[in-house]
Amino acid sequence: MDFWPEGYRCCVNISFDYDSNSALMRRAPLDIVAQSRGRFAPNVAIPRILDLLDKHEIPATFFTPGWTVDQFTESVEDIVGKGHELAAHGYLHERLAEISKEAEESVFQRGLEAFEKVGVKPVGFRAPYWLISDRTLKLVQRLGFKYDSNMMDSDMPYMLKWRGKETGLVELPVEWMLDDWPQFETHRRSPEAAYAVWKPEFEGLYELGRYFGLTCHPQAIGRISRINMLDKLLTEMKAKGDVWFASCKDIADWTRKKLA
Ligand SMILES: [Zn+2]
Repeated sequence: MDFWPEGYRCCVNISFDYDSNSALMRRAPLDIVAQSRGRFAPNVAIPRILDLLDKHEIPATFFTPGWTVDQFTESVEDIVGKGHELAAHGYLHERLAEISKEAEESVFQRGLEAFEKVGVKPVGFRAPYWLISDRTLKLVQRLGFKYDSNMMDSDMPYMLKWRGKETGLVELPVEWMLDDWPQFETHRRSPEAAYAVWKPEFEGLYELGRYFGLTCHPQAIGRISRINMLDKLLTEMKAKGDVWFASCKDIADWTRKKLA
């Protein structure tokens, strides 16, 4: 398989859905303890994550609701200042397929306005809960995004054709098994249990020369035992010597060059 830039056998993207307390503000505005868990991200997890990415010299993508940018601006500026990619992820972590057309358009608009404050025009979009409709895909195209990261039908990036038509978007597919939320939040599994799911998936994709995209949430992965596990996994990946670690934007650009 010679899909990737020369010298690289497979590709790894590490992404962080920087939700902070956005979903909780919408779902349970009176529950101040639940919201405090979201603030673990700017307070503790983001500095830890940025140090880890520095240590391994890995670029990452942070899918960030506009709310997070508005409330935790300095933290978001730290991320951008380190050269990581900031990409769109709703405003208050909305369930986009379940709100009105007008409400959905307003979510995108508010998100883009928040990003403007930190000087970023996002080129990528990942929906909260990976929940989108046909309408969402049309909006994403109309707003000029370059890639989408919601589908689960491949473990390679590809040009997204939808209902028989080219969308012009690159798709960077995802999977619940490569998401830290079910591991650590839904099922409260140990770091070792998550490692036991992720490591063989990486090894298999590495052998086949394919794409490993990991989705993490700062408030979940940022606890020290879990970030130490991620550190171990990244160390093993880097030791291969021919893994291309790239942001979603760079992978999307590369995919377009190869396939469009
Ligand atoms: Zn999210």
